[in-house]
Amino acid sequence: MRQGNISVHTENIFPIIKKFLYSDHEIFLRELISNAVDATQKIKTLASVGEFKGELGELKITVTLDEATKTLTISDNGLGMTADDIEKYINQLAFSGAEEFVTKYKDKADANIIGHFGLGFYSAFMVAHQVEIQTLSHKEGSEAAHWTCDGSTSFTIDKGTRTERGTDIILHIAEDSEEFLQKYRVNSLLEKYCRFLPVEIEFDGKVINNTKPIWIQKPSELTDDDYTKFYSELYPYAEPPLFWIHLNVDYPFNLTGILYFPKVSNAIDAEKHKVQLYSNQVFVTDNVKDILPEFLMLLHGVIDSPDIPLNVSRSSLQSDSNVKKITSHISKKVSDKLSDLFKADRKDFDAKWPSMDIFVKYGMLSDEKFAERAQEFCLLENVKGEYSLIKEYVEKIKPLQTNKEETVVALYTSDPIGQHSYIKAAQDKGYDVLKLDGMLDVHFVGQLEQKQEKLSVKRVDADIIDKLVDKGEERVSVLTDKDVEKLKTLFSDVADKVKFSVEAEALSPEASFITITEDEFARRMREMSRMQNMTMFGNMPDHFKIIINSNHAKAKKLLEAKGAAKKDMVKQILDLAMLSKNMLTGEHLTDFVNRSMEAV
Ligand code: ADP
Ligand code: MG
Repeated sequence: MRQGNISVHTENIFPIIKKFLYSDHEIFLRELISNAVDATQKIKTLASVGEFKGELGELKITVTLDEATKTLTISDNGLGMTADDIEKYINQLAFSGAEEFVTKYKDKADANIIGHFGLGFYSAFMVAHQVEIQTLSHKEGSEAAHWTCDGSTSFTIDKGTRTERGTDIILHIAEDSEEFLQKYRVNSLLEKYCRFLPVEIEFDGKVINNTKPIWIQKPSELTDDDYTKFYSELYPYAEPPLFWIHLNVDYPFNLTGILYFPKVSNAIDAEKHKVQLYSNQVFVTDNVKDILPEFLMLLHGVIDSPDIPLNVSRSSLQSDSNVKKITSHISKKVSDKLSDLFKADRKDFDAKWPSMDIFVKYGMLSDEKFAERAQEFCLLENVKGEYSLIKEYVEKIKPLQTNKEETVVALYTSDPIGQHSYIKAAQDKGYDVLKLDGMLDVHFVGQLEQKQEKLSVKRVDADIIDKLVDKGEERVSVLTDKDVEKLKTLFSDVADKVKFSVEAEALSPEASFITITEDEFARRMREMSRMQNMTMFGNMPDHFKIIINSNHAKAKKLLEAKGAAKKDMVKQILDLAMLSKNMLTGEHLTDFVNRSMEAV
């Protein structure tokens, strides 16, 4: 037997390890099993190149719990270690890695680094007060070796008891970590981290993993059924996905994976099932923020890449050039797939659009390149349920909806029911109305205008229809200027002055008498600011225009009315206009109903 000291430069390294890894103790299991997987892969490689000539046997990893001795053991029949190997790999190399880690991060409050590789074997001391290694090397004539360490810097090495090639890592679980002696706890950790490891992992007599997940298989050998089955393996209760992309890149970085398009109707739904990140089939995290472009977080599935650096903090991850390449590659793949689907079957694409709408718009708003590519598949839907590409749509409405400045005016509604009277006014002119009622559409409308030259996009209630698409036709008033002023005063006396301003227009006698409008730009600014919780514009009160059609027959009638009846008429007319804009609520509505009932 030999006793020795692990040479350290940092005093009390183990307490530091414990303290810093506190929030993520459970990763010890992933680390130790990854080592066992490595040892198994290595013996396979040695056999395949002829350096190991013995029997490989059935290669697997076994996890066992022993409540009586309070131990958790991870056994493999990988390549094993000699006493010299232990000296070199465990006492010196592994430790220097752990030590470097600790000296580097002990002063950092950022605990995010934890839980990403870098500590390896010594993470066992997060949960064990003593760790033993029993191992027999594959090398011919090796002797079994036994190493123990109690979490101080001293260790012992003596003769071991293993009679077959491989390694047992025996953890004597510490009192404060006894949860790791519970079967269900260990089982759930194995499910989380080891579900798709390439070597069979046995726990409780059961193999817990799928060693050949479909993302490492060839797309040509897989059926649709394989993909949907795998999806439900990942997310047992989710609705089937719309479609998927099988990623397979080996230059300039390594990446495999499958991204699924869920049926998203809102972002919160989608985020329930996160993309999982793997490194050589070892689960790393499902917190892929900073690795995936934000809009791709609405997708589901797995990404496996040994090239994503895992042992660094998130902030440096964002600036990592591999990560940048990966995100732009994925974004490109996704837009290519969408273009292909669009070209292959337009009807089917139309039908799927409502489930993709949010995703595509989110992508366009957050990724400049994606926005460019999306011109080939981003659809606009009108109130009749017809779909067109942006450029198709502009061509379609150009003949009728071009104003005197040669700008094409697209009209939209954010509420087909509430804005019905405005939609109807537009349709009566033969204009088309888009339906843009999604949560990102305020931003989308802004982008649409910006990217398209000579296109202006206005909500149907942003102005009276003659001014929304202003063709410069001359409007002649049948009333005198003086009468028009009188009319305006009648309304401004009754209306709330903060909320409304009053204007008159000489419109066709058929157009409605009173229209309440809300300026497009100001409304958009307010809505956007409110979404981002910005106070400056967000706090601005809503402001509306009351537009009187001075050519309407009622104008004359109103001017001719006498006494109190005049004011009552104005009130009633104004309330009706508000009612048709869905603005009449509460006490105001009750008053209106009572008053109207009396008049019946
Ligand atoms: P890493 O896995 O990054 O090399 P670790 O600290 O996890 O670092 O492990 C240190 C080394 O100990 C490994 O590189 C390997 O040489 C050796 N080792 C650990 N576990 C085993 C095992 N189960 N079988 C054989 N060798 C092992
Ligand atoms: Mg390791």
